[in-house]
Amino acid sequence: PVPRPGSVAQHPAAPDVAPAPAPLLTVRGLAKSFGDHRVLKDIDLTVRRGDVVALIGPSGSGKTTILRCLNGLETPDAGVVEFAGSPSAEPVTVDFGASTSARARARDIARLRDASAMVFQSYNLFPHRTVLQNVIEGPVRVQKRPKQEATADALELLKRVGLESKADAYPHELSGGQQQRVGIVRALALRPALLLFDEPTSALDPELVGDVLTVIRDLAEQGWTMLIVTHELQFARQVASTTVFMDGGVVVESGPSADVLESPSEPRTQQFVRRLT
Ligand code: ADP
Repeated sequence: PVPRPGSVAQHPAAPDVAPAPAPLLTVRGLAKSFGDHRVLKDIDLTVRRGDVVALIGPSGSGKTTILRCLNGLETPDAGVVEFAGSPSAEPVTVDFGASTSARARARDIARLRDASAMVFQSYNLFPHRTVLQNVIEGPVRVQKRPKQEATADALELLKRVGLESKADAYPHELSGGQQQRVGIVRALALRPALLLFDEPTSALDPELVGDVLTVIRDLAEQGWTMLIVTHELQFARQVASTTVFMDGGVVVESGPSADVLESPSEPRTQQFVRRLT
């Protein structure tokens, strides 16, 4: 199986005394504006090791911006982001509200970026590189892993998603579903502590959605920790342990997916969930 980053030894403790897994990611008071538009207002979020968290909400509510802040693609205006670390990475704490030098801030953001890997809505593959070259780019160029090792690893991961025979193909020779599976493999190849998915199926033709969701479901079963922005509420109900509902840059409601999606307590959540199901 795909090695689980940050996996915790399982102890045969009595179920009623088993402690909750430790948080891998803790976000407190995250805020981000674009000009006068306050897109994120005081977001708190916790993702425990092995959790699959679905982030849902109307278009424009700030979901993608959260992922981009976590992955270093946007710089928040305020808030604290803590990654507890994995066996291969040191813990990281970044306080975006604290004043610091540009150089120290850039270093913080680089460390945040290393802790997670993002799967984009539109795949974002390099069009002039083969599937294999796309997958090994990060491990070889950024993580400085030996090319041979990264290649063997990439081929193994491609095999797992049924794409080993496409290693030398170019992105335009693949279907959208295949390209997105390459996008997922490219993220896995970085061995991140946390996988971030930004509406991974929303650019796909309906008949291709199932294959990609199956791959994500398999990753959940293998114990990967994932934060998934999605409009697929049925998928969230089946795969995510926790669902977070956002609207207007705030977390309106979060909790076990069955509660949030089937018997939400907030009127705004009720309205949203009813409209999509
Ligand atoms: P969601 O993922 O929930 O649809 P987003 O996080 O993509 O929401 O966007 C939230 C809001 O922030 C939207 O109104 C969007 O137009 C705005 N926004 C996102 N990125 C930028 C940007 N780089 N510049 C200006 N506005 C942005």
